[in-house]
Amino acid sequence: MKITDIRATTVAVPLQAPLLHSNGAHWGRFVRTIVEIETDNGLVGLGELGGGGESAEAAIVALKRYLVGHDPRQLNALPFMIANPTASLYNNRTQLLAAIEFACLDLVGQDLGVSVSELLGGRLRDRVPFASYLFFRYADPRTGEGEIRDPDQLVAEALRLKRQYGFRVHKLKGGVFPPDYELECYRALAAATDGDLLRYDPNAALSVSEALRFGKAIQDLPNDYYEDPTWGLNGLRQLRGLGLPLATNTVVINPEQLAANVLNPAVDVILLDTTFWGGIRACVKAAAVCETFQLGVAVHSSGELGIQLATMLHLGAVLPNLDHAADAHYHHLVDDIIVGGPFEYVDGAIAVPEGPGLGVRLDYEKVARYAEYYREVGGYPYDRDPGRPGWYPLIPNDRWADPTAPQPDTLTW
Ligand SMILES: [Mg+2]
Repeated sequence: MKITDIRATTVAVPLQAPLLHSNGAHWGRFVRTIVEIETDNGLVGLGELGGGGESAEAAIVALKRYLVGHDPRQLNALPFMIANPTASLYNNRTQLLAAIEFACLDLVGQDLGVSVSELLGGRLRDRVPFASYLFFRYADPRTGEGEIRDPDQLVAEALRLKRQYGFRVHKLKGGVFPPDYELECYRALAAATDGDLLRYDPNAALSVSEALRFGKAIQDLPNDYYEDPTWGLNGLRQLRGLGLPLATNTVVINPEQLAANVLNPAVDVILLDTTFWGGIRACVKAAAVCETFQLGVAVHSSGELGIQLATMLHLGAVLPNLDHAADAHYHHLVDDIIVGGPFEYVDGAIAVPEGPGLGVRLDYEKVARYAEYYREVGGYPYDRDPGRPGWYPLIPNDRWADPTAPQPDTLTW
């Protein structure tokens, strides 16, 4: 089996409402680039990576000169062919490598008639549990609906998601409003969710002293973990006295950083992102190190459509030490580009796909529809807030959004 062609198609899929985070916002849509790798035996493998729009398309297509003629079964060669660590000082291709690895694993699975999780040694579970992943949101300017900015709106949305999808773990993405205000929201969430586990993730926006203060104020709650409250391994290490499990998806995202965290522990739960780590197999390797040193792991979400979600499900299926629910932005999307429509949550979990490879196929009518939508609306700056022109955050931040300010009626993109 040899690679004969690589295609990339950027799509924009609408979200229910714009999602706020400490660095800016997802402006009412996800922009994702779908990767298709064709082989000489007539198979098509699927990959996906975030954002980037035309530049992600061009970057993927530029890999043809490296990969046409390569046998996709030779997975161990891929990092050295396109993302070896010293060449990557010039061309950081980790996320491209991930999308290519997904597609090659999909091809190998299809060729052998087995799923990716079987290729990785077999499933330990058939369903992967997820957290509810709550965001502060603007109202969708198209419908005027979906706003979440106060404790009542947050609790109402959490209870709706719990009823509809069965979540028993709730994650609040913070770092948007002043810490005391977000504390009030988080405590309201805890009071309303009946002992369910909780996560707070301000994307490293707090100073060490704010993170200590916030951490002390939530010690009595059923915290699943305290995620990236402040920036850096040394910052996080200063929070270990809180007695809260600390998690990160920002500063342990490669083997070097994992080694540093093993030698001088800062973080208890490593959030494995199939994109940030450069593929599913890199995450499996990292999870094995975590198992050896008894660190916790969970499956992280950097935003996904169905292809990337399938990579997260196969990863979650094979990890013996998956001791926390996964995250997904997925339920904020209004649609997906895979045959059979969006994956379904049942009792807070999603079933791992059964078919060969990743077990998902493209619905080409939807790919065409959302590629057209992308051409209409274009990309968006993930690290800007459409409601606060000219604003950008510091790390640690002190430029919080005002929870009492009305949504700007000029919110357009
Ligand atoms: Mg995070």
